[in-house]
Amino acid sequence: FLHADSIETVAVLLLAGLRDLHAGSHCVATSSDWPQSVTFHPAGCRTATRLAQVERAVAAHRAAGQTDPRTRILCDDGQRAVALLLAGETMDAAGNAANTDGERDARALLDDAGTRLAELLQLRQLRDSIERLEKGEQLQRALYAIADMAGSDLEMPDMLRGVHAIVGGLMYAENFYIALHDPDADTLCFIYFVDSVETSLPPVEALPMSRFERGLTWYTIRDGKPMMGSNEQLAGQASGPVTFRGVDSVDWLGVPMLRNGRAKGAVVVQSYLPGVRFTEADRSLLAFVAEHILTALERKRTKEQLELRVQQRTRELAEANSGLREQIAERERGERLQAALYRIAALANSDESSERFYRHIHAIVGELLNAENFYIALKSEDGTSLEFPYWVDAHSPPPPARPMKPGLTEYVIRSARPQLVGRTRAQQLVAQGEIVPSVALRDSSTHCWLGAPLIGEESVLGAVALQSYSTEVEYTERDAELLTFVSYQIASSVQRRNNAQALIKLNAELEQRVQSRTAELREQIAVRERVESQLLHQVMHDALTGLPNRIYLRDRIERAMASLRRDPDMKFGLLYIDIDRFKVVNDSLGHLAGDEVLREVARRLASCVREPDVVSRLAGDEFAILLEHAEIPDTATKVARRILQSMHQSIDVEGQSLLAGVSIGIAIGDAHYHNADEALRDADTALYRAKSAGRNRFVMYDESLNQAAMNVFALEQDLRRALTHDEFTPYFQPLVRLRDASVIGYEALLRWRHPQRGMLAPGDFLQVAEDSGLIEPIDWRMFHLTMEAAGDLVRGSGFITINVSPRLFQDNDLDGRLLQLTRDTGFNPAKLRVEVTEGTLLGDAEAAAKVLQRLRDAGIETALDDFGTGYSSLGQVHTFPLKMIKIDRSFISPIGGGNTSRSTAVIGAILALSHSLGLEVVAEGIETEQQRDALVAMGCVYGQGYLFGRPQPASHWIESLIA
Ligand code: C2E
Ligand code: CA
Ligand code: CA
Repeated sequence: FLHADSIETVAVLLLAGLRDLHAGSHCVATSSDWPQSVTFHPAGCRTATRLAQVERAVAAHRAAGQTDPRTRILCDDGQRAVALLLAGETMDAAGNAANTDGERDARALLDDAGTRLAELLQLRQLRDSIERLEKGEQLQRALYAIADMAGSDLEMPDMLRGVHAIVGGLMYAENFYIALHDPDADTLCFIYFVDSVETSLPPVEALPMSRFERGLTWYTIRDGKPMMGSNEQLAGQASGPVTFRGVDSVDWLGVPMLRNGRAKGAVVVQSYLPGVRFTEADRSLLAFVAEHILTALERKRTKEQLELRVQQRTRELAEANSGLREQIAERERGERLQAALYRIAALANSDESSERFYRHIHAIVGELLNAENFYIALKSEDGTSLEFPYWVDAHSPPPPARPMKPGLTEYVIRSARPQLVGRTRAQQLVAQGEIVPSVALRDSSTHCWLGAPLIGEESVLGAVALQSYSTEVEYTERDAELLTFVSYQIASSVQRRNNAQALIKLNAELEQRVQSRTAELREQIAVRERVESQLLHQVMHDALTGLPNRIYLRDRIERAMASLRRDPDMKFGLLYIDIDRFKVVNDSLGHLAGDEVLREVARRLASCVREPDVVSRLAGDEFAILLEHAEIPDTATKVARRILQSMHQSIDVEGQSLLAGVSIGIAIGDAHYHNADEALRDADTALYRAKSAGRNRFVMYDESLNQAAMNVFALEQDLRRALTHDEFTPYFQPLVRLRDASVIGYEALLRWRHPQRGMLAPGDFLQVAEDSGLIEPIDWRMFHLTMEAAGDLVRGSGFITINVSPRLFQDNDLDGRLLQLTRDTGFNPAKLRVEVTEGTLLGDAEAAAKVLQRLRDAGIETALDDFGTGYSSLGQVHTFPLKMIKIDRSFISPIGGGNTSRSTAVIGAILALSHSLGLEVVAEGIETEQQRDALVAMGCVYGQGYLFGRPQPASHWIESLIA
């Protein structure tokens, strides 16, 4: 037995030895992994009865050591290694009859065989366990690998390929697939499929289970049991009729991937090779591996899902994070904006230059937005043009101010809204006609334009704009919002600055105004001072003539009196001068002409004296001259004569040549005067006397004059009384034809039958009557009496003239009243003529002419009286409806005297004119025959004068008529 190295060999040798010893026929049963895989030697001995006998024998042997007499335990390690001899018919003898040699040999043989068997069984057991351990190790490695892969970063297909390789290492797996079943959707998905024969691969996506109904995979999953074998075998294993699909395989092995008793899929290997078949071990292995594949898949999937979830969660977190980030950014932006706005607002109050102000704004806007290209545009004050006080641009230099045109800036200003303009919007605006294409986007490279209006208190001030030339900088609505925010601040800042500047300007203007006003005031003060000194001068002087006035004169008179009191020889002369009939000039030619006359008279008066004599104007047409340090009264009369002489020259006023006469009263200042007024009063009295005496003369004062002057007032009273007592009466003086002294008419002349003073001529009272206005009622009374008395005088031929005072022409109905009087008295108007003086015609000439025209229409003709003494010129005569001119006595009386040339020249001119106008001419005051002859020689037809008859009552002439 020593060389027998297998159980079979030992068994063969034992049985052969026993046979040699004639110990009957026996068989040996061995097992290295009791109670499994009991092997009989020779194999033909194996029967169920013997197997049962073996099992009983081992059990009995191990329980009580008692043995079945027909069995003999060759070896038993008490665990897995067992060998026993089953005795045949003779076994009992051989086993128990050991008293013979043969018996003893047989026993020894059995013992040796038993020993050897025990050794071999033990060896076998060791070998089995090594093999088992190796297999287990291999499987273990495979499972580890699978688990490893499940945990690896491998993609699913890569992992499945790896699983396939692992399975291929454990068994034949050339054709291998894995299908997963989704019980919820009831779908099947071939996640891995490798086949050497099959040409059509199953689709990658999950398909409904129904598509695979009654197929092998379907059954494997449905039944949840492995299936293995040929088609016939497989058909027998399925729980229903099988539909075979695809290429028939020689052998097919599919195991379900179970999880908690439910099939989640199947792992299948198949063989198309006749020599390659799958074993039970393969099935167990695959089932085992399948579970791990499922675990790996699930792990992988879980991992993937986890990763997905992690990714998703990460994404969610990232999103949440970015949301937060955005919020933070938003808040930061808000803070920045806030800060920016504060800073802009603060800028508005700073007094830095506009340039710096705008630069600051730009910097601040640049912190909020991309403001690489930034400008501020402001409307001009009149709103017609646009200025760019600030301009920063990568592409173009600052533009000059320009008139408003349809550009984007103007559009923003016009719309008063922020505008975000890209290329599309620009085209739209062009289409709408809001802007013109040439200025659509200022530069063709402008990509995006953003502008916001600067809205001021009353109007849009301008705009602030940003532009981008790059596609990378794209402004958004948010930016527009932001710029709008900023624009409000900029606008209010600009406005505030404008206001401040306006204030500064206003202040400057005010300052300027204050200065100029101060200068003005200074000027005014200077003017006032000048005026004051002028006023002082005026107080002392007459504005019109520049002569000292009454105040000044009185002062000088007082001084003269003072020196007179010191030295009684220092007499002074005082000349009171009045222009004759000045009132006529003033009334008829107007004040300007009157003023001119006054000035000229003043000049002439001044030219008549020398220093220190004082020429002064007292009032109206009254002047006075104070003569000092002179021979008085001689000098006074000399000066008076000089004055009268100076007035002989005519004065040209308003195109007319006037002759101004003056009357002069002289007072001699001596010790008896107490004040200036006394001296002036006396000079005035003398003047009055001079006027009464027929004007154009001087009168020296004496006490008698004083008496007369004292009577002026009394005279006026007397005239009133005379009117009521009817003391006036007409005298008549004839007008004659010079040739034969035949009477052509009579002039009615006023006389006053004064109860005390006798018969008075107009020279005694006419001035007072005119000055008091009493001349009017006196005239009308005169006219009445004349018409009553003269009717008989002109019964045959001739006419009566009446002297009509200029005052009466103030009544426009003079003609009507006069005609009424003719009717009342029954006097023939055709026999009546009125005598008017030049003064009458110089007044309201038009009205006077109308009155005269109406009188002529009624038959009453007009004579121009005292012609040559007044101020009218010859040229004016024809404008009045005149019948007759009476040459004043002052031209007639010189005839026959020394110097007659002037008067004859005047008379000649009057005659020539009158003849050409067809006027009758009467020469007045003819006293001598020489005068009469001279006049006749000159061609004068009519005359009047003492030579022909003095004024007499009407009765006188009637009597002489009768006579
Ligand atoms: P008159 O109109 O120039 O009147 C002529 C004056 O010359 C009259 O003075 C007359 O007596 C005077 N006379 C006549 N012939 C001679 C003469 O040869 N030599 C001189 N030396 N004188 C002569 P009478 O009557 O004293 O009147 C003076 C002036 O009074 C008149 O000047 C006239 O202007 C005015 N007058 C006379 N009657 C009236 C009247 O009824 N009404 C008005 N308003 N004035 C009258
Ligand atoms: Ca007269
Ligand atoms: Ca006269």
